[in-house]
Amino acid sequence: MTNNARVTQWGIYAHIPYCVKKCAYCDFVSSAVGKSAAREMKAYAAALRAEILREVPPLRARWGDAATVYLGGGTPTALPAQLLTEILRTLIDAAGIPQECTVEANPGTVDAHSLAQLRAAGANRLSLGVQSFDDRLLRIIGRIHTAQEAEQAFRAARAAGFANISLDLMYGLPTQTLDDLKTSVGAALALAPEHISVYGLTVEEGTPFAAAEAQGRLTLPSEETAEEMYDWLTAELPARGYARYEISNFARQGFESRHNLGYWRNVPYLGIGAAAHGYVDGVRWGNEPATEKYIRAIQTGRSVRTPEDTERTRTNAMEEYAFLALRTREGIDTADFSRAFGVGIDEVYGAVIEKYSAQGLIRRAEHHVALTDAGMKLGNEVFAAFLLGT
Ligand code: SF4
Repeated sequence: MTNNARVTQWGIYAHIPYCVKKCAYCDFVSSAVGKSAAREMKAYAAALRAEILREVPPLRARWGDAATVYLGGGTPTALPAQLLTEILRTLIDAAGIPQECTVEANPGTVDAHSLAQLRAAGANRLSLGVQSFDDRLLRIIGRIHTAQEAEQAFRAARAAGFANISLDLMYGLPTQTLDDLKTSVGAALALAPEHISVYGLTVEEGTPFAAAEAQGRLTLPSEETAEEMYDWLTAELPARGYARYEISNFARQGFESRHNLGYWRNVPYLGIGAAAHGYVDGVRWGNEPATEKYIRAIQTGRSVRTPEDTERTRTNAMEEYAFLALRTREGIDTADFSRAFGVGIDEVYGAVIEKYSAQGLIRRAEHHVALTDAGMKLGNEVFAAFLLGT
């Protein structure tokens, strides 16, 4: 997005950097809640609310109410429900009532009461990190909940009035078979969520899984099995009514995540909280990632932002625009690309589009350029071709 681009929608992401316990595969910015955490969490919630009151009103004055609010982490529901609902209320008071207000939750950290409080405070979408409905695999990956607890959390969310629930699942887990995956997906479908996100496991540096792999103690499915899982998932979910609208995301019609679509469509968003990222007026930044430093900076009125892309050029912006949009089913909106950069897509990417269309990896419609199913499977290879080499 250039500085002059029209803003028709904007969003807010707020980060909660706490979890009950770190999962074995996770490298997100979050820390396990220790005994002394109650005080820090209170101070963190106060800092978050202060940052909201400082940063949201100027954007609301420019662009109107925020369309989407997303509380992610970490595990937002690792916070005491009262703190979390205070944060939500502050956000909604400052930003207006959003069309979509998502809270990420771990099934091991919610109950009927806390879910009802979240719903009453304005959350209208719940993203439940389930990962698997197989207790053996849940133990291996270090989750704090069982499959049964995940089902109970889902039903409690429905009872609390959440009509829009997303489940996160993972595949390619240590020792997982295709049949294991089919059983987990079957359990997820039986709950009839509106949205399903599916991520293949990647072993990230610095995680317990990376250490286990280095010592030869991690038994991952073979590449062929992981590919079979991918092929099965990407055929099965659409066949069961969940259209694939982004590489890892599937939804019933009308339940695509508006907030996440905003990231891929170059929509501006404010990042609030430690380690949160933001994107406003064509500038990307990351907030101070260390929780205590973040709290102190907010308490003393200092900036918490570090620009990520001081050297960012128009070329970088075009590449990034293309990568992000190509993740979605609809792909690059060619008219929007022209508006944002003052140049037609074919002038920049004509040769790449032609080459990959001929290979069946890109499809072209009147106003869009998008990946085919085969192109999504080879996503990284096609994305690399959209680098402009400067
Ligand atoms: S609950 Fe989520 S954020 Fe926390 S450690 Fe597990 S995967 Fe990471």
